[in-house]
Amino acid sequence: MNDAVYVHHPDSLKYIFHQGHPFDQRRLVLTMDLLQQADALPASSILTPDQPLDEHLLQQIHIPGYIEAVKQLSIPSPSAEALQNAAQYGLDHGDNPYFPGMHESAAAIAAGSVYAADLVMSGQYRHALHLGGGLHHAMPQKSAGFCVYNDAALAITHLRQQYGARVLYIDTDVHHGDGVEMCFYTDPHVFTYSIHETGKYLFPGTGLVEERGAGEGFGFTLNVPVEPYTEDASWLECFEMTLARVMERARPDIIISQHGCDAHAFDPLSHIHCSMEIYRQMPRMIHEAAHTWCEGRWVALGGGGYDIWRVVPRAWSLVWLEMSGHPLMKEMATRKLLSLPATWLERWQKESPVELPTTWLDDVQRWQEMPRREEITRQNRYISELAASYLR
Ligand SMILES: [Zn+2]
Repeated sequence: MNDAVYVHHPDSLKYIFHQGHPFDQRRLVLTMDLLQQADALPASSILTPDQPLDEHLLQQIHIPGYIEAVKQLSIPSPSAEALQNAAQYGLDHGDNPYFPGMHESAAAIAAGSVYAADLVMSGQYRHALHLGGGLHHAMPQKSAGFCVYNDAALAITHLRQQYGARVLYIDTDVHHGDGVEMCFYTDPHVFTYSIHETGKYLFPGTGLVEERGAGEGFGFTLNVPVEPYTEDASWLECFEMTLARVMERARPDIIISQHGCDAHAFDPLSHIHCSMEIYRQMPRMIHEAAHTWCEGRWVALGGGGYDIWRVVPRAWSLVWLEMSGHPLMKEMATRKLLSLPATWLERWQKESPVELPTTWLDDVQRWQEMPRREEITRQNRYISELAASYLR
């Protein structure tokens, strides 16, 4: 069996709301180039989905009226009727303004996640990475949080229907994975687990520790909301403690993880103060859990990440380096400030509006100390212990 595959659909680069929108797909290009300059992504590891998204599958997650609205708003000059409907589906302006080719590019992204799930569940690859995916806020009846089609929910539904697999969804984006949670809230075969900044001050406002699923699905949803200005040690303590319990309860056949990297201190849309260290450690823990609990079956997706220059390329490359067992991960563990490839820095510093970091991990020694650090750690520990106690 092949070990790891990197799924990339060129059409996912056309998922552009407008110039200047925070969701910026250049991050996919920056990431692939970083991996290539690091000699870590051979062309033979990259696969493009060979099938378009199955329309029947799309209808299992999204309501017909919404799919129709997305399609009608994807043409260059939508009809007056389509424009009138845009608001009720969250597509008029603000976070998710309609754009030409929206349906096609969102469907290509969803196809990539379904394809990645197939490659792993059918046994062709042990792990698959699809950084174009992870659009976890899309709702059955509307677009939300920069997400049009919920590729993660579609991939999970495909795994349920084609393979009858028990699925564990792990969401490490700084925002609550609300869309995926909602789709499987009453389903005991799909465990959804999300660690995120508390919704007290951040979109989408949900993801309370009390949200635990409903009906037959009660006990198969877990949320760990952490405080603003949480730092590495506390974030990792919460994640590690709860992940161990989640694995025991979920007993999955496959893990789907979402790797939004917007909990970094540089991210402009959230208030968490973590460094690249959590993006080195979390993939390592998930990788290990996959081998312990489900014969390595692991599909990793992208997600949020709005500092596309300093954060996303490094964070997402780390997921691939971990997944593919690249020796750089070992080097990083012993020598924290390992340099990024000079060729990548030279190429992209010219385009970047900010100074690029020169090392894979951050030099946190030089970061300012957070006031209220102990109080934040204490509150986060309380919430994670409460969450973990629900799975006893
Ligand atoms: Zn996010």
